[in-house]
Amino acid sequence: MRHILSTACLRGHASNPHIGPLLFYDLQSDVMGEIQTQDAASIPQASSCTGKVVIVGAGAVGSTFAYAMQLRGAARQIVLIDRNRELAEAEASDLSHGALFAPPVEITAGDYPDCADADLVAICAGSAQKPGQSRMELVSTNVGICKTIVRQVVEHTSKATILIVTNPVDVLTYAAIKYSGLPTNQVIGSGTVLDSARLRYMLSRHCRVDARNIHGYVLGEHGDSEMVAWSAVTIGGMAIGKYCPACPRHCPPLEQEQLAAQVRDSAYHIIEAKGATNYAVGQAMTHIATAILRNENSVLTVSTLLNGEYGLHDVCLSVPVIINRSGVERILNLQLTEPELQALQASAEAIKNVQREVGL
Ligand code: NAD
Repeated sequence: MRHILSTACLRGHASNPHIGPLLFYDLQSDVMGEIQTQDAASIPQASSCTGKVVIVGAGAVGSTFAYAMQLRGAARQIVLIDRNRELAEAEASDLSHGALFAPPVEITAGDYPDCADADLVAICAGSAQKPGQSRMELVSTNVGICKTIVRQVVEHTSKATILIVTNPVDVLTYAAIKYSGLPTNQVIGSGTVLDSARLRYMLSRHCRVDARNIHGYVLGEHGDSEMVAWSAVTIGGMAIGKYCPACPRHCPPLEQEQLAAQVRDSAYHIIEAKGATNYAVGQAMTHIATAILRNENSVLTVSTLLNGEYGLHDVCLSVPVIINRSGVERILNLQLTEPELQALQASAEAIKNVQREVGL
């Protein structure tokens, strides 16, 4: 019964001498009792949000990430770095002027020495896709930018987790691991966290079920060779292959290929119409940042270096991993079907080909 009360509630109570004893009622034994404050103190972690986040690249993605973090109250301090200093200052001012309407957070423009005591450095600087351009076409420009930035970051910190968002994100995550010299669990890419969210949203529309009750993962490259692990998709705990025949709506069989293509190509359509994607990626980054800053042990499909998992070596791509304060805590080995495994391996090969082209 005690576990029904949230940790935050217990901790707040434990530190507040003005509140009377906190009672519990045990449903099984039909007994009411008092929770001792040391019980609350000993409840494990999910640390409060005191983190400092440095964002390199204050363009559409970086500034929207800062905005989402501000609204969520997910950090104590946010520093924006951009080669266009005026832009970083303007974005920091604009965000700060909303202070009255959001939880307190200090937002400023800064420079690389600000990384010294950062918990998380997010890199979203570089060229963005033009309409019709693939993510991989950005590679040569953005590998150079990533190298310059990562080297400046590690001059000031070896402790922060580095989150790569600039595209092509899997190749750049691999490059950042190489250029930083940091432990591989500490350098991650935003990967397919956004694509997995798009999949769950689109399935929720199709099946008319809350997206939060649908679980499913997009794996591989964040880009054209990504694939959906359909064998792992569940709705309300039911495998999708069992859910659809049992659903009273009797809609036509799920056209999986079509839905996967919609997920894969959605960024192209958005960029065609508005020039960038920023809102959902800003929220996905906030989700990843929160998992790190609050030590959440969340399962997310970030891009991480594989060394043998799924039969893959020396490539960064997205598979489900457990994320916490130390970055990637553990890589999960999903039981994929043979065709899914082949699609994942093909995606890894597509990423490696680009890595070789740019000499990584
Ligand atoms: P943008 O052009 O709006 O912003 C890029 C910013 O980077 C600019 O403000 C620019 O001044 C800055 N910049 C460039 N070189 C720099 C350097 N060396 N040092 C510091 N700042 C530098 O672009 P955007 O729409 O914000 O996209 C940024 C990146 O994020 C792109 O590569 C885009 O493809 C990628 N992106 C990734 C995802 C994802 O899910 N991984 C989603 C959307 C966009």
